Amino acid sequence: MTLERHNRIRAVLEKRQPDLTVLLEHVHKPHNLSAILRSADAVGVLEANIVALEGRPPTFNETSAGSDKWLPLVQHESTETAFSSLKKRGFQVIAAHLSRTAMDYRAWDYTQPTAVLLGAEKWGVSSQAAELCDAHIIIPMHGMVQSLNVSVAAAVILFEAQRQRLEAGMYNTSRLTPEALAKLEYEWLFPREAEILRAKNEPYPAVIPSELPTILESAS
Ligand code: SAM
Repeated sequence: MTLERHNRIRAVLEKRQPDLTVLLEHVHKPHNLSAILRSADAVGVLEANIVALEGRPPTFNETSAGSDKWLPLVQHESTETAFSSLKKRGFQVIAAHLSRTAMDYRAWDYTQPTAVLLGAEKWGVSSQAAELCDAHIIIPMHGMVQSLNVSVAAAVILFEAQRQRLEAGMYNTSRLTPEALAKLEYEWLFPREAEILRAKNEPYPAVIPSELPTILESAS
């Protein structure tokens, strides 16, 4: 471990977007889930949300390239509880859904707190979710096949969100509170120590950059 790693972690955290997320409804194939997390990490999503299929724990594969380590996946028991939790936190939930009322995905304003709901590989977004959400968005399709792979759809939408947020200057300064930034910085730098402190209900020490070379050396 080096100071360079600390600088990288800090730079990535400073670009995280706490008010942009995905909600995956029964997306269960490991390669799709992994690819979605990899794209979400790339645009700075802080955490992803999932309604797991029949309570099955989500699994990843090498497609994630380790992004699952940097992007917690919050599991919800049902579509209903996922919506109420996101709504309480001020998110608008928009469904990537091939419906008649769907608007072009580029017409949505992603600079507002947004959760992008993506549906299951086989049957898409559930009718319950389609009703609960604030809007439907669609990526226009002009080919013979009706829909995109779910991870491709996620990437297209998330990079439009990134484009809008870049234009709005939302990556220029940290969007995390100083407390949240310090907490995540410690957890990303010292995951094992952070786990021990959490179990003991003890606070994390402050990360002091000038002291890091010695600490990181002894931790490696
Ligand atoms: N037969 C399913 C249906 O009718 O919705 C197809 C599911 S598609 C393979 C999986 C998910 O990817 C969809 O639920 C949606 O969230 C997303 N998706 C795929 N193509 C899309 C598109 N052109 N526009 C918006 N979302 C899309």
